[in-house]
Amino acid sequence: MSGIKPFETVTVDTDKVACAGEGGGLVGGHPKVYLNLGPGGRVECPYCSRLFLKRGAPAEYPPNQTSKSA
Ligand SMILES: [Zn+2]
Repeated sequence: MSGIKPFETVTVDTDKVACAGEGGGLVGGHPKVYLNLGPGGRVECPYCSRLFLKRGAPAEYPPNQTSKSA
């Protein structure tokens, strides 16, 4: 109860995932996209905001200080 999870978290075993939204189709989903898991073994889908977390990766990834410039 130390974190807010507004979206679904999906555990995966690879560094690259494909997401098409809920159900894996266009029904309630979005066009299929491929996402590469970034540092910390996680990536958030820009369409449906689901979080893909690589199995074995820490559940809590140290957040950036929000002061990082692109
Ligand atoms: Zn998605």
